Amino acid sequence: MNNKIWLSSPHMGGTELNYIHEAFDQNWVAPLGPNVNNFEEDLKCYLNSDVEVAALSSGTAALHLALVILGVKSGDEVICQSFTFSASANPITYVGAQPVFVDSEPDTWNICPKALEEAITDRAAKGKKPKAIIVVHLYGMPAKLDQIKAVAAKYEIPLVEDAAEALGSTFKGQRCGTFGEMSILSFNGNKIITTSGGGALVCKTIEQKDKAVFLSTQARDQAPHYQHSEIGYNYRMSNISAGIGRGQMEVLEERISARRKNHEFYLDVFQDFSGVKVFTEPNGDYFSNHWLSAITVDENIAGFSREDLRLALEKQNIESRPLWKPMHLQPVFNNAPYYGGKVAEELFNIGLCLPSGSSLTDADRNRIKNTILSLRK
Ligand SMILES: *Cc1c(COP(=O)(O)O)cnc(C)c1O
Repeated sequence: MNNKIWLSSPHMGGTELNYIHEAFDQNWVAPLGPNVNNFEEDLKCYLNSDVEVAALSSGTAALHLALVILGVKSGDEVICQSFTFSASANPITYVGAQPVFVDSEPDTWNICPKALEEAITDRAAKGKKPKAIIVVHLYGMPAKLDQIKAVAAKYEIPLVEDAAEALGSTFKGQRCGTFGEMSILSFNGNKIITTSGGGALVCKTIEQKDKAVFLSTQARDQAPHYQHSEIGYNYRMSNISAGIGRGQMEVLEERISARRKNHEFYLDVFQDFSGVKVFTEPNGDYFSNHWLSAITVDENIAGFSREDLRLALEKQNIESRPLWKPMHLQPVFNNAPYYGGKVAEELFNIGLCLPSGSSLTDADRNRIKNTILSLRK
């Protein structure tokens, strides 16, 4: 059997272990220390904007703290893009709030500005103006940020940017992760860079960052003993994980160009296929890191379905995966309000993510290509 080709594997750069050794040598084996501070500084420099970064234990934790800091409380409503990974929506329920899901638009696959406005006005008419809007940049593709920001500003609702998949992506030259009132990043093992597990909250002010660090370290008041006047969390990033992050930051640009090359590869592979579309930036305003390369397959034109292709790849020990199943179709959220049509649902039915790791070899790509070509009529 051929070795397995994964959808998205961790890809170390080489210097990660040096930072981990440093942590051991200095005995900073704790959820604080020089690697944490320096990793935050690296991210802040990279984002190249007036932001403050708090390194946390996961992207999910970062989203949870974003909602806590924005004051979202039990009984509130929060709008969330339906077409996403469950981690975008779960933190809404952690604070006791109700998610309101909104459909995507077909250009970026991200939240539809029109459906978003419809959701806001309808919820407000029902007496529940949403407390926050969670926008996602799926597979690294920036959302329609101009329009989404305009809607958020018009109704004075804070925008929370889930940039977990979009480190290195830009919209009109500005990095994803700097558009929201608060933004989150993820460094899970499958993301474009990893700390094995980890995330970050990107804030607009130092006060917000200080609050995030305070909440993520059990909310200890200033006192020699342990004194608490707020509920805290154990969400700070480990200094060991942050060491991996520092090494990964040194190769981030290489990782982005490798993932973007995968996208070019799939454009090339599918160029003679009718009925298959490779997910691509709508115009020059958008720059995707192409974290995952994805396609849609119109079975009637292509002569094979998304599932045919997925199973053919699986037979060759090549991992691929349907697009995210929209949250409004998930059993766990079946009582949540939903606004929009069937864009996300249709994408879920016909879409597939293809192997996209930055460490794919030419031999891997050949195997993938031959399997795909075998389906062409
Ligand atoms: C990975 C991911 C998250 C969660 O990040 P973790 O670090 O795994 O908790 C959130 N949102 C999206 C869209 C993701 O892909």
